[in-house]
Amino acid sequence: MKKCIIICSVFAVVLFLFSSGVGAGAVNEDGSSGDGLKLYKKAAYIMGSILEISVYSGEDKKAADNAIDLAFSEVGRLDMLMSNYKSNSELNRINNAVNKREPERCDDELLRVIELSAKFSRLTNGAFDITVSPLVALWGFNRGNDGDIKGYVPSKRELARVLPSISYLNIVITDAKDSNDRRRLIHFKNNFTRMDLGAIGKGYAVDRAAEVLKKAGIDSALVNFAGNIFAFGTPEGRGTWKIGLKDPVVAGNILGSFKIGDGMAVATSGNYERFFVMDGKKYTHIIDPRTGYPVRGTLSVTIIADTATTADALSTGVFVLGAEDGMKLIKSMDNVEGAIIYETYDGNIAARISDGMNKILELSETAGKIKIEN
Ligand code: AMP
Ligand code: MG
Repeated sequence: MKKCIIICSVFAVVLFLFSSGVGAGAVNEDGSSGDGLKLYKKAAYIMGSILEISVYSGEDKKAADNAIDLAFSEVGRLDMLMSNYKSNSELNRINNAVNKREPERCDDELLRVIELSAKFSRLTNGAFDITVSPLVALWGFNRGNDGDIKGYVPSKRELARVLPSISYLNIVITDAKDSNDRRRLIHFKNNFTRMDLGAIGKGYAVDRAAEVLKKAGIDSALVNFAGNIFAFGTPEGRGTWKIGLKDPVVAGNILGSFKIGDGMAVATSGNYERFFVMDGKKYTHIIDPRTGYPVRGTLSVTIIADTATTADALSTGVFVLGAEDGMKLIKSMDNVEGAIIYETYDGNIAARISDGMNKILELSETAGKIKIEN
């Protein structure tokens, strides 16, 4: 009976995750709890997305519950730091203070996320860039109060006006001048530059949430924040976490699955996550900062890495780079694997899969129509 309950609830994780627009879902490989461990699972709605934490713990449900609540609080704290939607977040305070034309003191953790972002901008040759914010707004991708996006196709002129503000090189961070206030300072070289952490914030939050769980004494857990996943624990013999690879074309279809173990992160960026259709053309929310246009051709990118921050930033950056350059980048990096699903020039669907990912990926029958390349 106990086993049945665990299997059933694990199954629900898969269904729940798959149905909530997530590129991957998790199950314990053998469905068993091992050593009397039980699966505790809780979800919360934070940063406009569902954060789900699954923890394997002993009989002490209260301890597992407390640990998960601490992790939720940590993500709530980060929301106040990095949110684009909360008018009183630290990020928005900085975004709005730029008009003062004076360098602004900034929370150190936020500055570290901004500096990390710049690292990924350099790595992707500017394909990943948190200063896309004015473009995200211009194309109408920001969610309104009703949760919907408006969608707008700007003219070339409107785009040309915005483009000079788009570059991570416009962000300048300087040392604190005042010995009483050691916070560093930030300013933008262009008055219209704004930052948007939508492509890295959830991954960063997942890493911090996992740290909080570990500190609270949890040995085995999976954190899933809208498809940004980090797993730890699942020791030898007790199974691995199984992640599903979503079909970016047919909603609800799973192309295959792969298993991840201790200390592995996964993130997926998909053209189906947020988009609008105008005059028969689909415009997706991931924008090429170099041209100002939403990316075409790439359908989804799944990245496996050793931190959720890296997986999140790279899945977006590789999405912009496309199949050819994106796969080159994945292959050049240690501890990074990935799959890029894209549309070929003749309208077919193809996938580039890195060698390490190919080894662990079990394709389902429905993947048959996709041309797989290495
Ligand atoms: P993700 O789902 O992680 O790929 O993040 C997509 C979100 O990041 C979008 O909704 C935008 O807010 C933002 N974004 C769009 N294009 C880029 C880009 N090229 N670099 C960084 N962030 C981006
Ligand atoms: Mg991302």
